[in-house]
Amino acid sequence: MNDSAFDSFLKEFIPQVADKENQLSKALWILETTGSEDASRLLATLDNEFKLLFSDEKIYEKLIYFQKNGITDPFLNRQLNILINEFKANMIPKNLLKEISEKEASLALTYANFRTQIDGKVFTENEIRDILKQEKDVELRKKAWDASKDVGITLADKIVYLAKLRNKVANHLGYDNYFDMMLDLNEINKDMLFETFNDLKVQTDESFVKMINEVNETLANEYNVGIEDLGPWAWKDPFCQKDPIEHTKIFKIFENLDILEIARSFYDKMGFCIEDLIKRSDLYEREGKNQHAFCIDMDRKGDVRTLNNIKPNAQWMETLLHEFGHGVYYQCIDSKLPWLLRTVSHTITTEALAILMGRQVSTKEFLQDFCACEDEQLLNDIEKGTKREQLVFSRSAFLITEFEKCFYEDPDQDLNNLWWDLFEKYYSIKRPENREGKQDWAAKYHIGLAPVYYHCYLLGEVFASTLHNQLLQVAKDDKIWKKPAGKFLEEKLFLPGNKYRWDYLIEYITQKPLSSDAWVSECNR
Ligand SMILES: [Zn+2]
Repeated sequence: MNDSAFDSFLKEFIPQVADKENQLSKALWILETTGSEDASRLLATLDNEFKLLFSDEKIYEKLIYFQKNGITDPFLNRQLNILINEFKANMIPKNLLKEISEKEASLALTYANFRTQIDGKVFTENEIRDILKQEKDVELRKKAWDASKDVGITLADKIVYLAKLRNKVANHLGYDNYFDMMLDLNEINKDMLFETFNDLKVQTDESFVKMINEVNETLANEYNVGIEDLGPWAWKDPFCQKDPIEHTKIFKIFENLDILEIARSFYDKMGFCIEDLIKRSDLYEREGKNQHAFCIDMDRKGDVRTLNNIKPNAQWMETLLHEFGHGVYYQCIDSKLPWLLRTVSHTITTEALAILMGRQVSTKEFLQDFCACEDEQLLNDIEKGTKREQLVFSRSAFLITEFEKCFYEDPDQDLNNLWWDLFEKYYSIKRPENREGKQDWAAKYHIGLAPVYYHCYLLGEVFASTLHNQLLQVAKDDKIWKKPAGKFLEEKLFLPGNKYRWDYLIEYITQKPLSSDAWVSECNR
């Protein structure tokens, strides 16, 4: 009885949501491909209308009523839980909701328009990153690293204010703080998260420290300074997240290759046709267009698109495989599923798949198969670089996740000190000097604007490693671009859509709960 009442409710409510989401996607697509101001205003209006659909208290009460009376069908129950989580975050005083969106929009604008200076000359974020990637002059590197943190001083107060508003929302909904709320609404168990991260750290600390010692030696030689004089300025990116030892050679491999054709052939070998996806996508650089990359499911009916800015280098090869990975996932979801379940299961599962696909680019097998690269020394160097990056990135994910936990527990503490305490804890490197009174934590985009999200990247990496091993077994080969591997992904990961919670889906695919084994052994290899 309750089941059929809920089903009727869905039939009436969902078409409105589906329609609004489709309009929202269209406005977003126009904005990202053109930079149109009209599209930006339209997007804000539609976003507000979309949120309004999920803030009707009468409907929320109805959903709670359905929940209390119990839904017997597991897939109806899944849809009910998805809706309740969606509504819950909006069940707060409207003025608070409004203040938060305004503050977030203003923070985003300040961030986007911020330009730093070195010796009186203005630099964009990309220009700063380029200096850290290539420059040999130590003094200029130090200035560039320093300049990369300037934005933090401008943003810090705004972020702290916003964090307190976010905590108010959480308290209103019965959570201790925003960090706990976000994990819960995203179906992630906090104890499990920290236990997993601790396990990853403990099991790879030895490899990490060994790697850091080698890195320090290399960097000290590269810049002709003593090891004790090294600092984050010597790394190749502002947040110590990438391989600190440059290997530009992998970039050159793709110089004269058609990377779109390689991507097409890669997916074709797995049995996935990406012609439609390519046709709908916006692939090349253009004035006014978003400079990054993403994939979007426009209507949950097969209109899947990617935005890219293809250039013939390794980074775009990886990005292309990554975004098309999200794309084939969306495309292969069972089209007969109800709308709420006709999407990916979680950020973790779709990121894991996309990361797995992108990662192939730096494997020997890929470079041999698709780029005819046979230089053993180079192939070994590239694989070593991937391992370094995997270790380094994990430390930054540990740092950011623990920082956010402590930040939302007490936004008034000395946050810069907290940031560098955690840096020393996870990187086994001393903090740089003269950072007192700075706000280096606030320079990291995600802390202010994509809060309580970073852990998903690392959980995605971990699941990607497990999935990789499984696909090799299925393919009975040393490479995953084989039809049986594609078929396995389609049946086990893609088709079920959002029928199962992400952790159950992982168990369904791998026959056991999310395990760190594969990731750990990759790091310790
Ligand atoms: Zn992605």
